[in-house]
Amino acid sequence: MGRIIDGILQGVTFDPARWTGGEIEPDIIILHDTASRLGRGSAARYLKSNDRKVSVHFVIERDGTITQQVRTDRRANHAGTSTYHGRRNCNRFSIGIEMVNPGKMTRRSDDKAQAWFGQTFGIADHGIQEISTPEHGHGLWMPYTEAQIASVIDLCQALFNDIASLRDITTHWYVSPGRKVDPGPLFPLEQLRSIIFGRDEPRDVDAAVDTVLYSAGLEYVQTHTPGDTLNLRRWPSFNPNVIATIPHDTILPVLRRGVFAGRQWVCVLYGGREGWVLASYADPVTFKEASP
Ligand SMILES: [Zn+2]
Repeated sequence: MGRIIDGILQGVTFDPARWTGGEIEPDIIILHDTASRLGRGSAARYLKSNDRKVSVHFVIERDGTITQQVRTDRRANHAGTSTYHGRRNCNRFSIGIEMVNPGKMTRRSDDKAQAWFGQTFGIADHGIQEISTPEHGHGLWMPYTEAQIASVIDLCQALFNDIASLRDITTHWYVSPGRKVDPGPLFPLEQLRSIIFGRDEPRDVDAAVDTVLYSAGLEYVQTHTPGDTLNLRRWPSFNPNVIATIPHDTILPVLRRGVFAGRQWVCVLYGGREGWVLASYADPVTFKEASP
């Protein structure tokens, strides 16, 4: 398995971090700011080796250089206290990407922007913008470089091509609301998502809004594809997103249901993995109550 991305994506070097955890099967990518000085290698050196047990899978420098520090099938300590769609401790199921950026800054009386670590930046020199959002609050933010954004896109594309279990790209502020504000509001998150997922791909986030959420164990379906298998898909669509094939007559717990592009889909659990199957090939199962 291509668990070190080097070779899949040209130019990524692997420089192992001090703090690496046990095996994971990543479901999501979490984007971060380093909230650090901008010098090349400075944040990467800290993330690779520190006494605070912090680590991350990838670091993207201002010039777009990518360093990998943790294998994608190993846990890194980047998210801390976090929740994604009801699942706690996102380090157990995510890949972390840190982009070098000073993070949220404040305006000084001499009209410079000051980072939390004391360094100041000329507002016009760095294209710094003053922005308020519900997620980030009010602050001054430095834009990401074009090279950084291009590298994030390339990296996410390579990761989604290589790792079938990946389903979403999210942010530290989304999984740790009120505690974290990275990446900043100038990061083009929706642009990245539409490139990776396709413009009309119904993602989990949309599906969660449009469908009823079942508790696993309350409803089951049985696949009905005599002589054939049923595709388990990352999202409810016919785009190339098959993550497993399920044998005929398999009984599966249902997590969600929904109608997408005029078809009924069910989100099921198979082999420890969430995915969508066409409802027309998944018959409802009714269990007889055991006699007392
Ligand atoms: Zn973060």
